[in-house]
Amino acid sequence: MFERPRGTNDWGPEDMARRRQVERAFVELAESFGFGEVSTPTFEPLELFTAKSGPGIVEELYAFKDRGGRDIALRPEFTGSILRFYLSDLRGLPKPVKLYSTGPVFRYEEPQKGRYREFYQLNAEIIGGSPLPSDAEVLALAVGTMRAIGLKQVRARIGHIGMLRTFLPFGPLDQAKLLHALDKRNFPALEAELARLGRPELAGPMRKVVGLTGDASILEEAREILGGAGKEAVGYLHELSEMLYHYGLPASDYRFDMGVVRGLDYYTGMVFEIDSPNLGAEKQVGGGGAYDLAQVFGGEPVPQTGFALGLDRLVMAAEAEGTLAPARPLDAYVIPIGDHMRGRAVDIVSTLRAAGLRADIDLVSRGPSKNLDYANAMHARYAVLVGEREIASGSVAVRDMKTGVQRGVALQTLVAALRGP
Ligand code: AMP
Repeated sequence: MFERPRGTNDWGPEDMARRRQVERAFVELAESFGFGEVSTPTFEPLELFTAKSGPGIVEELYAFKDRGGRDIALRPEFTGSILRFYLSDLRGLPKPVKLYSTGPVFRYEEPQKGRYREFYQLNAEIIGGSPLPSDAEVLALAVGTMRAIGLKQVRARIGHIGMLRTFLPFGPLDQAKLLHALDKRNFPALEAELARLGRPELAGPMRKVVGLTGDASILEEAREILGGAGKEAVGYLHELSEMLYHYGLPASDYRFDMGVVRGLDYYTGMVFEIDSPNLGAEKQVGGGGAYDLAQVFGGEPVPQTGFALGLDRLVMAAEAEGTLAPARPLDAYVIPIGDHMRGRAVDIVSTLRAAGLRADIDLVSRGPSKNLDYANAMHARYAVLVGEREIASGSVAVRDMKTGVQRGVALQTLVAALRGP
């Protein structure tokens, strides 16, 4: 017997029906927002991810040498691949370029409930739009996806990492270290690092600012603490809030949270995270923000904003809130009464399938009563019994599997009879 690798999952038909339902909600909404789908490889040159996130990222990756000696990594997210694709092939498209992708990503993490080594993301990016309208658009798509799935208890938190960067006037590597310490709320590390950089007095205000969370009034508090460094970002977040209102996202639907410091180092402006309180420790269902990666990859600066939602966790959140529709059952299970009726039964099942019904047919030549047991176990709404006598008179017997009531139905009216209410 083989076991599946640690941190991976098998998903059965019922799981997949739920996963597809959630994925479809995102895809339909993204398409309605004018995003187009792209697909990129599941593995990439390792440098694509180290260029963006620094060499430390290798610890979190599935990285290996292929037979040609090339350093390869399974993608840990979509943004790097999409930027690579944009820079090599899509740069000539009219701006903004709005792209979405769905698929598996891989991270070498310590597995636990809701945290896997292979998981599935729903990703959207806007490249080359103006920051404010683009940030509002991606936020509306992310929160709209939650609504489309029926989630009510999720909470969006919006912050601004540019504000923190302006207040930390150091080179990118030092800034990354400080932001990493802030992300982990590791204040001793923050203080030690600022002391090393000769600016220990910045630790106090930083601690205060990342603790600010609430309605728009906290923006004023942040501005007071940070002085000039906070001015632009605070103005920006006020404007963003106004724009979100027009998307049907009133301020009561999210909080400002100056403590949103995203783990990866490339964000430059607005950042956000969405949590479901029902998921315990791994409660974050999605996150994103504004960044400028084209520069890191050697292109000219171009504003970008995007997000990734974790499908696995969205499904868990939807299950906890009971918002998913049950899988659609079989409409009909077709039973030939005797093998000599199989050809007629196939004609009938084919007609039902062509009419858009979910129809299945006996494949093991069971007797009628065993077949009815099977139809019952499959939760089929109707069984269609194809017997010689009935067929001779142009009809079949249709059994309602819930009530057990059986009646003759003319073949011409079968589709309508099964479609039912
Ligand atoms: P990130 O790219 O880290 O912001 O991740 C985006 C989303 O993917 C998170 O908000 C989670 O919902 C989901 N996610 C991240 N890591 C994992 C994981 N190891 N297992 C399952 N879902 C994850």
